[in-house]
Amino acid sequence: MLVNLNKILPRAYKMGYAVGAFNTSNLETTQAIIGAAEKLNSPVIIAVSEKAIQYAGIEALSQIIITLAQKISIPVAVHLDHGKTYELCRQCIKNGFTSVMIDASHLPFKENVRLTRQVIIYAHKHNVSVEAEIGRLAGIEDNIEVKTGDALYTDPDEARKFAMATGCDALAIAIGTSHGAYKFKGKPKLRIDILKQIAGQIKNPLVLHGASGVKAIWISRINRCGGDLEQAKGVPDDLIIQAVRNGISKINTDTDLRIAFTAGLREFLHENPTVFDPRKISGHAREMIQQVVADRIKIFGSADQG
Ligand SMILES: [Zn+2]
Repeated sequence: MLVNLNKILPRAYKMGYAVGAFNTSNLETTQAIIGAAEKLNSPVIIAVSEKAIQYAGIEALSQIIITLAQKISIPVAVHLDHGKTYELCRQCIKNGFTSVMIDASHLPFKENVRLTRQVIIYAHKHNVSVEAEIGRLAGIEDNIEVKTGDALYTDPDEARKFAMATGCDALAIAIGTSHGAYKFKGKPKLRIDILKQIAGQIKNPLVLHGASGVKAIWISRINRCGGDLEQAKGVPDDLIIQAVRNGISKINTDTDLRIAFTAGLREFLHENPTVFDPRKISGHAREMIQQVVADRIKIFGSADQG
């Protein structure tokens, strides 16, 4: 069932769980996300980045997601991740997305508010929800690179003013996570104190980006079959659970799915040197992604909330 974030996040906040937003750029990943959500009876958000749109084409990709989402009874939002322009948001809405993110967090406060408002006015006319961002994350996501030194924690006062000025349906904040597979040099740490202050002041559902777990077991599975992903480090499950307890309602996961896909491909090809059927090869990678999505859903607490 296709819905926007307003049908998913306020309930999650009230009941004390978070809903996963999982990135896709192809059929198999989409099937894996929807398969895991359906199996666990969990609401889910399918996220698409600008790079994914460039890779697959907006019509083909949105049709795959929408077709699969409409077949199941659990709530599914189709969401643009880190939209940089009004035009891209508009294009996604025209193609049936139920939710968009406008990320103008690199702009000065006033301009962030202005662009976010512009997107909200258009989106709300079409019953589409809007996520915005205040404060920046370090690391690399598709098309967006922030140097660690430029990363800022979200200022709680600024977040409150921003939420009031824009009326966004969800707000991404920076509390110490970063995009990509190499999140922490030392011990992983999130600024739960800042999260508490923000959650205490505003009602808009809060979003955690850059939250992949990057589990050591998956990294060694990749490296055992010819990969070379040393020192990757993600957000441990206990920090995710703390973040959910303190007011995070939407958690983005991209890197973990990429890692599961890569592990699946490498292992399958290594163990089956005579197979050359793409369906068998991709099918195995799809299973690995589904496992990871299911694990994440359980950590977020959204199982049986569909
Ligand atoms: Zn992000």
